[in-house]
Amino acid sequence: MSTIIRLAIQKSGRLSEDSIKLIKECGIEFSSGGGTLKSMAHNFPLEVLFLRDDDIPGYVADGVADIGIVGQNVAVETRKTLEVVRPLGFSKCRLSIGVPKGFEYTSKESLNGMRIATSYPNILSDFLFEHNIKASIHEISGSVEIAPGIGLADAICDIVSSGSTLISNGLKEAEVVFRSEAILAACPQLSAEKRTILNEMLFRISAVQQAEKTKYILLNAPNHALKTITSLLPGVKSPTVMPLMEEGWSSVHSVVKENEFWEILGKLKDAGAEGILVIPIEKIVK
Ligand code: ATP
Ligand code: ZN
Repeated sequence: MSTIIRLAIQKSGRLSEDSIKLIKECGIEFSSGGGTLKSMAHNFPLEVLFLRDDDIPGYVADGVADIGIVGQNVAVETRKTLEVVRPLGFSKCRLSIGVPKGFEYTSKESLNGMRIATSYPNILSDFLFEHNIKASIHEISGSVEIAPGIGLADAICDIVSSGSTLISNGLKEAEVVFRSEAILAACPQLSAEKRTILNEMLFRISAVQQAEKTKYILLNAPNHALKTITSLLPGVKSPTVMPLMEEGWSSVHSVVKENEFWEILGKLKDAGAEGILVIPIEKIVK
């Protein structure tokens, strides 16, 4: 039997949709949804396992799955030995300490002597140790935010996204302990054959990630402004310039970075560009 690689992703939760989307954008077809627990890709040597996110680091570390997509928070908290292959840029969140709204928090030293409730005892204990804070950790597995309100703890350490959960529980964010995003992790002992398959996947992931940050741009430019306009649009190699039917005008095609786009747009218009079209790109292979 030829080698396949097994990828563990979250079955249902905040990581699931983006994990599935990433694999599909890599051109790998597989069925998901319903009660599926595992699924073999039709056109790539990959099997997808659908698991609870907390189980993913252990499965990958033990080689039950070869690779996995999981939040850094969970990967670090479980203290499993994993190879972090690359950050994936989604499911960004932070782990923060929340204290009662009325508490006068001045610095990390304010945490001394506190009882802090959390589902992340390892990450919190590293943080307390690193900053030489003496506080006690109360591990609880869910609804951490209510712990101070019911007298179980003085503060909490939990995932914060907008902060509204903190506020509705009478808490405020005092300190960021850890910043997280989804990562692709691998079993440290992958065979050479599996490593080759992983590398092919990474090549495709790079093409998708490059494309997400880039847009294809087409515009019409008066020939006298071509020099200025093309200097604003470096392109993958250099812009394509083609003559228009109308004398003295050209069509310019190039790519622009998403984050530079608005700034460049103004300059292009000032330089005389017209009919500017901006189109999403699916993949970029350099
Ligand atoms: P499971 O049932 O698989 O155990 P869960 O309830 O533990 O799921 P989710 O709430 O789905 O986990 O979160 C999964 C991961 O998504 C978290 O570990 C974290 O990395 C990330 N995450 C959590 N909250 C947010 C958020 N508000 N925004 C973006 N990402 C988040
Ligand atoms: Zn979980």
